[in-house]
This record gives sequence, C-alpha cells and structure tokens, in this order.
Amino acid sequence: DAAAVALVDELVGDLAGTWDTSGVLPDPVLRKLGGAGLLCAQVPEVYGGPGYSSLRNGELTAHVGGRCSSLRSIQTSQGMAAWTVTRLGTERQRAAYLPRLVGGELAAVAFSEPGAGSDLSTMETRARIDGDELVLDGHKVWITGAAYADLVVVFAGYGDAGTAVMVPAGAPGVTIERVPEPLGCRAAGHANVRLDGVRVPLDSVLGGRPGQSLPLLVTIALAYGRISVAWGCAGILRACLAAATAHARGRRQFGRPLAEHQLVARHLAELFTAERVASRACADASASWDGNSPDLVTATMLAKYVSSTQAARGAATAVQVLASAGARDGHAVARAYRDAKLMEIIEGSNEMCELMLARHALSAA
Ligand code: FAD
Repeated sequence: DAAAVALVDELVGDLAGTWDTSGVLPDPVLRKLGGAGLLCAQVPEVYGGPGYSSLRNGELTAHVGGRCSSLRSIQTSQGMAAWTVTRLGTERQRAAYLPRLVGGELAAVAFSEPGAGSDLSTMETRARIDGDELVLDGHKVWITGAAYADLVVVFAGYGDAGTAVMVPAGAPGVTIERVPEPLGCRAAGHANVRLDGVRVPLDSVLGGRPGQSLPLLVTIALAYGRISVAWGCAGILRACLAAATAHARGRRQFGRPLAEHQLVARHLAELFTAERVASRACADASASWDGNSPDLVTATMLAKYVSSTQAARGAATAVQVLASAGARDGHAVARAYRDAKLMEIIEGSNEMCELMLARHALSAA
C-alpha cells in the first residue's frame, strides 16, 4: 500500500503536533484522505471503495495512528459509520451512502449520552414515527469527529427496541458543540450533539424500519470501532518505540549512550514486546474478521484490550526514556501519552473488556 502510505505521509508531514495544539485537523486533509476512500478503506469496490481486507486496513490504520491519533480517530469513526451502513443498511441504503463516505463526506457515530456511558441500555435518545418521517430527540456526548461531520449515525431507543439512523449534521434541530480541551486526540473534533425534534425521512433508518435489538445494533457497530482502535494503538506503540530507541542511541549520560544503561535497555525491551504483542493481537482479530470466524467478537475485544493497555503503558515508558526531551506539548511521545490513555476508555473501557473476556473464559472453560 505504498500509495496510501505516501498520501498519508504527504498530508500529515510534521504537522500532527501543530494540529494537536490547535485542536483542529485541516478540512482539505480530511476531504483528500476521505475522497481517496482511505478513511474507510474496507468499503467494497462495488460501492466505489478501496475494498481492503481488515488486515490491510489495519496496517494502514496503524500507520495513521503512529503519525496522528486525532486523524486515526476520524478514520475509526468513518470506518465504523461505513461498516454500520454495510451491515445494517438495505442494499438501496448501501448504494446511497457508501459512495458518499468514500467520496469525501465525513460521518460520526453517536451512542454515548450524559447518563449512558458504559451502560448503553440507559440511552434516553428516542425515535418516533410521524407520518413518513422519523423524529429524534436526545443528547449525545463526546462524539468523535462530530465537529467535522456531514452525517451522524445516531443510535436511539424506539419503543422497547432500538434503531440506527443516518442524520445530516445540518438538519434543523441538530446542534453540535465541541467538547472543550480534551485530554488527548485533541484535534479529533469531539463534540456533543443535541437532537431537538430532528425530522428525517423514514428511509434514513438503517434497515428501512426502526425496532431492532439495541444491544445487537451497538455490538455490530462497535466491533469495527474496537479493531480500528486496536490497530491505532499498535501504531502509537510503533511510534513510541522508534522515538525511544533513537533517543536512547543518541543521548549520552555517565559517559555512554542511554541504551547501554541496563535499566533503560529494559524500557526498550518492554516497548518492543508491547508493540509485538499488540500487533499480533490485532493481526489475529483481523484474520478472524477476514475469515468470518466465530471467534471474531472475542478476538476483537482481546485486541482492543491488549493494544490499548500496552499503548498506555508503552507511551508512559517512552516519555520516561526521553525524559525532559519528551516532556512538553507537541512532542510525539507526550502526545502519545495523552492519546493512548483515552484509548483505554473508548469503545468499551478496560473494565468492560475485562468483564467480557472473563465471561468468555467462564463460558469456554
Ligand atoms: P462510565 O460508564 O461512567 O464509567 C466510569 C468508570 O467506571 C470507567 O472506568 C468504567 O470502566 C467503570 N465502570 C462502569 N461500569 C462498570 C462495571 N459494571 N464494572 C466495572 N467498572 C465499571 N461515544 C460515542 O458514542 N461516540 C464516539 O465517537 C465517542 N468517542 C469518544 C472519544 C473519546 C476520546 C472519549 C473519551 C469518549 C468517547 N465516547 C464516544 C464516549 C465513550 O464511549 C465513553 O466515554 C465510554 O463508553 C465510557 O463511558 P463514561 O465515560 O460515561 O464512563
């Protein structure tokens, strides 16, 4: 994928730190990468997408993640939106939305609410039918990419069941307000989304009609998000390993390079191990995805858990190796340290992952 990697490198250059401090990803960068289909590269060719496998898309995601986690976050949301349309939409909806998502339009995915974080069953956003329209009322929070989005995939309750709806960000009744000063991924356009009597045509409802199982809808969408975050974290680890080894080779203290002090070498060994373990877990999950394996849910959860925890720890280790050289805003390892921490929270926090992995262990034993 030399061409895709070259385009990412050309667009990001050495600007990730600047984007992080300004909190903004330039619109032309998003449109160009999106228009090349690379923000959701698994969209099949028949819909105008690049048609990547999960493994190939994962490696691209890691590359973006190693350069700029804010951009990778946009890639995760866009890919999750495209996957949600692919899995939950009708053929007519796939043909309508997917070419837009590989053509430069941007999408965000909205589950979370002020009272519904880990426990999405307490979602209060409601959908109701009024004639040939669906009406949405609710409040979504912390929606990655919503500040840039043309479309928001909104998950809502409908009667006792649920629904996923494609909502234009500019529709009357939609208000999008940025989350001020996020800890990390600062340019990822996190925003809170208010929906006040928002009316969309009924054919914006994925699947054609509301009233599916909400947990099932959410689980399908999150599967993509988890594997994408996992690969992004593998990218963070690769960037941290590169920065730490380069610094440990070049910087001298007590008459020799840092790398020759055994306690520093141990940090490098830990980082190397973390990157290898995370990458293997991601590759395993992608193999399950590409092979339609029944292990997919567990493999994806495992990859997200392993990769995000390793990235959070690995980024802290990299800051330790660089010490004052990496201890300021704008430095790649400082950015990684803040970005990686958030990856332990999203798409199922560490604790949620642990609970699900324990459940799997108990059922498999
Ligand atoms: P809570 O659910 O309140 O949890 C707080 C703590 O308690 C956590 O450590 C949690 O693991 C723990 N906890 C909760 N329940 C249990 C339990 N039963 N057992 C053990 N521990 C438990 N949402 C979207 O819909 N779309 C997005 O694009 C999106 N992007 C995000 C990007 C970032 C950077 C962040 C920080 C959040 C984003 N979110 C998004 C929201 C995210 O999904 C939630 O933050 C996440 O689900 C956790 O919910 P919460 O923050 O309300 O924490």
